[in-house]
Amino acid sequence: MRRAVEVAVAGGHNVLMVGPPGSGKSMIAKRIPSIMPAPSLEEFLEILGIYSAAGLTQIAENKYFKRPFRAPHHTVSRVGLTGGGPNPKPGEISLAHNGVLFLDELPEFGSILDNLRQPMEDGKLTISRAAGKITFPCKFMLVAAMNPCKCGYLGDPRHKCKCTSLQIQQYRAKISGPLLDRIDIHVEASALPISDLSKTQKAESSAEIRKRVESAREIQKARFADFPMPNKTNAAMTAAQIRKYCALAGEQSKILESAMEELGLSARAWDRILKVSRTIADLDQSETIKTQHLLEAINYRSLDRNL
Ligand SMILES: [Zn+2]
Repeated sequence: MRRAVEVAVAGGHNVLMVGPPGSGKSMIAKRIPSIMPAPSLEEFLEILGIYSAAGLTQIAENKYFKRPFRAPHHTVSRVGLTGGGPNPKPGEISLAHNGVLFLDELPEFGSILDNLRQPMEDGKLTISRAAGKITFPCKFMLVAAMNPCKCGYLGDPRHKCKCTSLQIQQYRAKISGPLLDRIDIHVEASALPISDLSKTQKAESSAEIRKRVESAREIQKARFADFPMPNKTNAAMTAAQIRKYCALAGEQSKILESAMEELGLSARAWDRILKVSRTIADLDQSETIKTQHLLEAINYRSLDRNL
């Protein structure tokens, strides 16, 4: 799961972690800002601007030169999530600007998630009031987490799952397709005892991971230097850019075709797999996408498979 998150941060991909309670999803999510590249001065000023519009200047001062991490509860109101109100204030999506928006227990958010679609597409939210319009930016990395099923124990060797297959289907169907479409990486986590988690955590510091992430981002910045993209990341590639920068060798196309068929992946998964393969190759400082990069990317579509 850590590796998948590193890939996600390196390419600016949104990520969904699926795992039973206690598998460390929240802990990993909280660490994400520390492995992201440090914000530029411009990005930091944007963050400060939003926090002061929200009346949270003190928090902004405490977070000096750090990226924000916002984790609204699933009972959050629409205004609380996207912003607005009689005296328009930025919502959680803007407070997460240039940082991470973490939605734990994603299916519990329900229909409020539909309100994320447009702002995620635009990278900003405009609120109209009698007195005029006000625009808050909201470019964030979406990190979502969910249990594998309603009771939470599907696939957990220590507990027995009590859900019927219909219940599992219904639980997963609560996440809307359009939102799922914006998430390039799905990763499943098994339940690990806490002691194991802290052991793996000690293995590598955030600073070490951040170094690899930063080198991968440099490669992307150079690649997209001539394109008018606000986010020069692999996740933001257009269809034409994917064709240009994610070319596969003949043998690799065959692997991907047969994987799509065998795992029953959706047609939309194709481009996502290519984008993520490109990021994995960048992390590996490889100019071409190698077969091992492609295979790893195919692994990050687990939810497509199960649905
Ligand atoms: Zn269950």
